[in-house]
Amino acid sequence: MNKTTLKNGLVYYQSSLVEIDIVIEGSKIIKVGSNLEEGKIMDCTNKLIAPAFIEAHAHFREPGFEYKETIKTGSMAAAKGGYTKVMMMPNLNPAPDTLNKIKKMKEICQKDSLIECYPLATITKKRLGKTLVNFAILKDEVIGFSDDGSGIQNSKIIYDGLSKLKGAKSVMICHCEDLTLVNEGVIRESDYAKLHHHRPINPLSETLEAIRNMEIAYVLNTRIHLCHISSRYTVWAIQQFKKMGCKVSAEVTPHHLICTICDLENDGRFKMNPPLGDEEDQKALFNGVLDGTIDFIATDHAPHSVLEKSGGLDHSLFGIVGLETSFAAMYTYFVKTKKMPLELLLDLMSKKVSDCFPIKDSQIRVGNEASIVIIDLEQKFIVDSSEFLSKGKSSIFEGKTLYGVIEKTISKGEIVYEK
Ligand SMILES: [Zn+2]
Repeated sequence: MNKTTLKNGLVYYQSSLVEIDIVIEGSKIIKVGSNLEEGKIMDCTNKLIAPAFIEAHAHFREPGFEYKETIKTGSMAAAKGGYTKVMMMPNLNPAPDTLNKIKKMKEICQKDSLIECYPLATITKKRLGKTLVNFAILKDEVIGFSDDGSGIQNSKIIYDGLSKLKGAKSVMICHCEDLTLVNEGVIRESDYAKLHHHRPINPLSETLEAIRNMEIAYVLNTRIHLCHISSRYTVWAIQQFKKMGCKVSAEVTPHHLICTICDLENDGRFKMNPPLGDEEDQKALFNGVLDGTIDFIATDHAPHSVLEKSGGLDHSLFGIVGLETSFAAMYTYFVKTKKMPLELLLDLMSKKVSDCFPIKDSQIRVGNEASIVIIDLEQKFIVDSSEFLSKGKSSIFEGKTLYGVIEKTISKGEIVYEK
């Protein structure tokens, strides 16, 4: 089998950054050490070599909305962002609520995806929030269940669903949003919303549903995961539930960590669900990441067509893209500014994700699959959405200068992206 040596790079290996070489044979890492030279040499001088990233929250829009994104274009965007594993959210048409539909999605992934894609099943039939899917049949076929895109208003659905997942490996993944408090709002309740006459979203809409779901998971002693946390009240609630021993994990997006309502412009690229919070939220989210209340970074990559994002804050659809800018944005705003160690960021985008789900890790070690990202940390670029491989072009970081260019992404020994 063909061998390749990644030579002279700075490698994130066993929780430290060390100058060592890596030999890959076929799909696997076969050696890690000094002065290795076997097969083809890939010179990685001045480059960072890290476990490839894992995305727990992306919308690849297929089946049903292929004009926004397909599994193929989504996987290309992911590979460009340094990801080799992606969990795909099920707000699709048809919604993946049966084994047959999940199998069909897996077939498309097999055929079209450059990387490993994991379809999630819905929690309820047709994602309508009313009747549970067949958990007994699906729980061994998917990593998790989610009605992402909407909160589940009916407490009994969460109770019954979590009861059925007791002891299972697959996880209930909750988008928390109490619709009575959302009240058809478009941005976070704020002076900005008042001043510019945008309908406000009460931040408790997220927190109250999160608290209800965590309470049920705690009582049933079942795993639960909370998506894209955006409000300080939710961070504080998770902190309390974790202290009590609730098996909850949570994610946050780069845009909620980096941007606030102070950054808002009346442009669709600032409209997402949940909406951007204020500086107090931002502070709590960041501290939550540092103290482990929030487990990892997820992008909530949610592409739409240019037309669908052209209606400003009031009329654009919710959702922005994120896979192609996530590492560079996090690196530029937090690591380069010395607010966060590089090692932590690398864990937040890979190891800590695989720790939360029944998914193989991408850690660099002998015997593991070679799923690796090679990054030039010194190189900068200006975010230009016309260069995105995603069909979605609505990025909150458009025009920003970011550091950290993904040079190559390797999935199971194969180069799936090369700059
Ligand atoms: Zn969501």
